[in-house]
Amino acid sequence: MKKHWLVGNWKMHGNLKANAELFNAIRSGTGELAPEVDMVLCPAFPYLAQMQGLVEGTGIQIGAQNASDHLRGAYTGETSPLMLKELGCGFVIIGHSERRSYQGENDGLMGRKALAAIDAGLIPILCVGETAEERDAGRTHEVLGRQLDAAFGYIRTAHDNIIVAYEPRWAIGTGIAATPEIVQAEHAFLRARIGQRDAEFAKRLTILYGGSVKASNAASLLSMPDVDGGLIGSAALNASEFVAIYKALV
Ligand code: 13P
Repeated sequence: MKKHWLVGNWKMHGNLKANAELFNAIRSGTGELAPEVDMVLCPAFPYLAQMQGLVEGTGIQIGAQNASDHLRGAYTGETSPLMLKELGCGFVIIGHSERRSYQGENDGLMGRKALAAIDAGLIPILCVGETAEERDAGRTHEVLGRQLDAAFGYIRTAHDNIIVAYEPRWAIGTGIAATPEIVQAEHAFLRARIGQRDAEFAKRLTILYGGSVKASNAASLLSMPDVDGGLIGSAALNASEFVAIYKALV
């Protein structure tokens, strides 16, 4: 098996007790992490310090779900990627479709956030994805290309470490994942698009799939050639589902 990423996005769920229980159940289900899997857990902001303690010595890494596009300043309520770095984060999810839908985030902001994250020493996980209407209208590549180009316009690909996540909006939280064929086709498209900027970078670019990944479909989705791992929502909140997805990768 090639190396895969397994990223759990806990969204706005959890509390101190539930987080510890979930983490411990995942840990006892996986045992020592297999070398084929890089696991990243992304709890809500207030629990990052708790998570830093939980993951100590396990090899499991931590990510945040969002960050400011500024490193410091008078931005009330915002969180600097430098602060996330100090709390042990290695990663930050940027441009998730829920932030696009509910917080009005756009492609340009995503690029600026990605650059700030990189400058703070984090690896941004850039989310792109089309709506059902855009797919039905045959506009998937136009939309993915636009999102990717806008973000990468800010990024020096030859030096920067970035992960891209393909998360079709129609597959997020619906229980209906994209088919392995769709996922492979869109990942290949994304890789080729980045390849127009930097062929070497595109070859080693990590592209995750997210959208209703669960134990029953993980093996077929995550084994596609251009899929380097999964960004998991609901199933990341259920230890036995998450462990089963992990086991599909080892
Ligand atoms: P679901 O796995 O619940 O569809 O969510 C995917 C997601 O949004 C991960 O970021």
